[in-house]
Amino acid sequence: MIDLSIKENLDNVLSRIKAAAEKSGRKAEDIKLIAVTKTVDVERIKSVYNYGILDMGENRVQELLEKYDKLSSECRWHLIGHLQTNKVKYIVDKVDLIHSVDSIQLAKEIHSRASKIGKKMNILVQVNVSGEESKFGISPQEVNEFIKIISEYGNISVRGLMTIAPYAENTEDIRDVFKKLYSIYIDIKQKKLDNVSMDYLSMGMSNDFEVAIEEGANVVRIGTDIFGKRDYTKV
Ligand SMILES: *Cc1c(COP(=O)(O)O)cnc(C)c1O
Repeated sequence: MIDLSIKENLDNVLSRIKAAAEKSGRKAEDIKLIAVTKTVDVERIKSVYNYGILDMGENRVQELLEKYDKLSSECRWHLIGHLQTNKVKYIVDKVDLIHSVDSIQLAKEIHSRASKIGKKMNILVQVNVSGEESKFGISPQEVNEFIKIISEYGNISVRGLMTIAPYAENTEDIRDVFKKLYSIYIDIKQKKLDNVSMDYLSMGMSNDFEVAIEEGANVVRIGTDIFGKRDYTKV
């Protein structure tokens, strides 16, 4: 079954991504769109897949596993939510990129589980730029030291940074959050550390992705603007 509203939403999102990319001197192809599929059923995920979106983001391990079983290797899976150390073993063989590494202990566990299956796991370091207490992530001041330590773990590959900005009615109010993470990203990129390649800057969600792209994001994670408002009573 073809879901026309998803097609319409997706076309709208893609044209907004293109416009924001061009504003920052880049092309639509320079920005990777991850469809955030939490609470979205498999049929609707299949329809975005059929429209050519191959990257799916889930924030919960259990939900990712259920969908992985039904869609398996057709898609590339991204774990974008907080990850507990004891759940790493369930996903390390299934996901392409873990966006939410925020502790040494977690990095070490990913390294250890990945080495058991002979994989080099791609990860991003989650940074809590705004310092909101409700958000996970390491502080901007700690990023350098943190990356230096985890770059020693041979079975993980540090591929970039991720943040979740505070919710803002007026997204101009959070432009500085994205600016700040971009400058940290560039700073680390220039250091050319072993086992660290700053390829991905994952920032921007439905509410704020245009500003994030204007400030240098090259990965955006979008749920609501593709699938519609989700039913939070189920979350
Ligand atoms: C839910 C979620 C998103 C997508 O949010 P929308 O507002 O629905 O676009 C992006 N990133 C993370 C980490 C999420 O949990």
